Amino acid sequence: MHLAPDAPAPERPVAAARPGTVWFVGAGPGDPDLITVKGRGLIERAGAILFAGSLVSEAATRWAPAGCEIADSKDMTLGEMVAWLTERASRHATVLRLQTGDPALYGTLIEVVQPLDAAGIPIGVVPGVSSAMASAAAAVESFTLPEVTQTTIFTRVEGRTPMPAGESLAELAAHRCTLCIFLSITLLHKVEAGLREAGWPEDAPVLVVHKASWPGEERIVRGTVATIKQLCREAGIVSQAMVIASPTLGARGWAELTKSKLYDATFTHRFRRASEATKETS
Ligand code: SAH
Repeated sequence: MHLAPDAPAPERPVAAARPGTVWFVGAGPGDPDLITVKGRGLIERAGAILFAGSLVSEAATRWAPAGCEIADSKDMTLGEMVAWLTERASRHATVLRLQTGDPALYGTLIEVVQPLDAAGIPIGVVPGVSSAMASAAAAVESFTLPEVTQTTIFTRVEGRTPMPAGESLAELAAHRCTLCIFLSITLLHKVEAGLREAGWPEDAPVLVVHKASWPGEERIVRGTVATIKQLCREAGIVSQAMVIASPTLGARGWAELTKSKLYDATFTHRFRRASEATKETS
């Protein structure tokens, strides 16, 4: 249903006795079609939408009903965001906080939920397609493979946000599993250093996906521990990119997928040699 621009907002219009619900909706990684059916349904009946940056604005404007209040949170403080959502929840039954990817990863979910809880405003969360998953899809990669790795770590390298003890990239990379490294495209020197420190060989594959799923803008750079920083510099990729380091990368082209020996020969074996050499010299 579409309302005229000056029509009252959808659903409950004014001065409700009970506040509406604030929904935290994952809008997906960029392609507006990658929002969930549930998320889109909420946009279609939203009285107000606060979206996070240009990434998700298109989904909001494409499906929001006429008369829906739509605002960008990019220049708002946390307090202003909470005030905006609280005020709209007093007037609309359905208020959305639209976030990139999934709301559980590197967003401000808890910081915003806590004051809404304190104000007695009901909330709900709708998951979204994380950029980590969209990056795997773009490059036709699997984060897990039998006898290679059965574990994926979502992490970042230290920037302004400090990493808690035990979570340096070198410590996490010691697991030899898949690493999806967010928020780190400008810190590739730290990515390379962390992988090296953990004993990953220079030719271990590293993948960067820029603007995964964005129609016409997605770019994929395949390199190694030794080359990825330089390749990204040459490609001019400095933002909105996922860095993936994994012993599974490139498996699409492997001749002997089911043989764990392949993994031993190309990755673990070299690592074992490297760690033995380290022990001998230390
Ligand atoms: N909640 C989001 C992550 C937000 S943090 C999610 O689940 O995807 C922002 C970081 O996500 C960026 O620095 C980048 O590493 C990654 N990112 C977001 N959108 C991306 C995209 N379309 N392609 C590649 N990486 C993306």
